[in-house]
Amino acid sequence: MDQDIEVAIIGAGAAGIAAARRLHDHGRRVLLIEAMDRAGGRAHSVRVDGLTLDLGCGWLHSAERNPLAALAEAAGAVIDRSPAAWRKQLRNLGFDVADQRAAEQAFTDLEEGLHRSPPGSDVAGDGVARDHPWRGYLDMVSGALNGAELNRVSATDLLAYDEHASERNWRLPGGYGTLIAELAEKLPIAFGTKVSAIDHGGARVAIETDKGRIMADAVILALPTDILARGDIAFTPGLADHLHAAACLPLGRVDKLFLALADPEAIPPETHLIGNPHTAETGSYYMRPFGRPVIECFFGGIIARRLEEEGEAARIDFAVRELGTLLGDDFARGLHPVIGTWWHKEPTIGGAYSHALPGESGQRSILARPVSQRLLFAGEACSTNDYSTAHGAWQSGVAAAEMLIQKS
Ligand SMILES: Cc1cc2nc3c(=O)[nH]c(=O)nc-3n(C[C@H](O)[C@H](O)[C@H](O)COP(=O)(O)OP(=O)(O)OC[C@H]3O[C@@H](n4cnc5c(N)ncnc54)[C@H](O)[C@@H]3O)c2cc1C
Repeated sequence: MDQDIEVAIIGAGAAGIAAARRLHDHGRRVLLIEAMDRAGGRAHSVRVDGLTLDLGCGWLHSAERNPLAALAEAAGAVIDRSPAAWRKQLRNLGFDVADQRAAEQAFTDLEEGLHRSPPGSDVAGDGVARDHPWRGYLDMVSGALNGAELNRVSATDLLAYDEHASERNWRLPGGYGTLIAELAEKLPIAFGTKVSAIDHGGARVAIETDKGRIMADAVILALPTDILARGDIAFTPGLADHLHAAACLPLGRVDKLFLALADPEAIPPETHLIGNPHTAETGSYYMRPFGRPVIECFFGGIIARRLEEEGEAARIDFAVRELGTLLGDDFARGLHPVIGTWWHKEPTIGGAYSHALPGESGQRSILARPVSQRLLFAGEACSTNDYSTAHGAWQSGVAAAEMLIQKS
């Protein structure tokens, strides 16, 4: 291993890549250390049957201020700026217009109520009655936003994201994961190298990996919170505050399943369905994204946890049944699984994206605080307003790199 490293960045997801690019452009000798054999982490595009599918991030949220949108543009990537179909139910199937309005209003009321009179518990779910007619719908929305239902989520954290996010969401037909992996191309990366221990007590930082020891002047840790919290990496001296912060910012569950359509013309492109708006245990189905002959099934929170326990066959059956109920048995018979994710089971990821536990939104700033000039953290969970996103991860990586540059 090259020992002449100034900054080792552990984790080649969006945050690690951003940090490494900033430092590399500043003339620093950097090395990205990545356990997997690819760059991108939770940004991962795959090619299946001639289609590019994003298994992780797909949307350039808050697109007008998203640095990855600017980088995509600079790289000449095609950007789809058409509005998302999420809020419309195809042909109002199983969800009439009055109910769609009522459900949306319930979400607006929840947010306004949390603003106006924040619950002392900081439990987002305390902002709406348990027997509210749209409680299931609201937990389903929280499952998509946070990977967890409202009772598991900090109200303060939820509002911090919501106040800063815009309604502008763009996509990359060539893949968000493709873009992020391409942004790593000029960087030195040790792939398939898993870090198990870090000693930051000496003049240089010693990084133990399954491929041997690496020494560096400084380290940026750009790892998912669940990996930190469960102790995959042993730190000397210990890092009680940072590891506690990571445990208070767990990754929720969100998974995708792509189904191919035997007869794509049976449904219009760029449309959307919620399986059953009266329960949290339902899927969200994006039909024919970019006009492609697939459905992107999206499961967040309680339904993602349940389907993970039940397994792949049960998940396919669930999606096909929900779609069949709305679109008919003939349509359901024409659906075939293409690929799906189990992010929680990925050994070096551990879940989808972070949410703060009630009372713990302040832990994001603690996690983002440099331990010393030699040890800093990055990753989506470090972002106070854009957490859970690829651009939040990216910005956290740039911020960690800037801290190192300014301190030298
Ligand atoms: C299903 C799904 C949908 C999403 N949709 C969107 C979306 O539409 N828009 C959006 O902006 N965001 C979305 N996200 C979230 C977004 O993908 C993430 O927030 C972001 O990619 C996280 O980047 P990161 O760099 O913080 O972490 P990661 O991408 O998780 O990178 C961390 C890296 O660290 C590596 N690692 C872990 N342990 C070790 C070790 N011991 N040694 C070495 N390497 C290690 C991992 O392998 C990984 O590559 C989605 C995520 C999921 C799962």
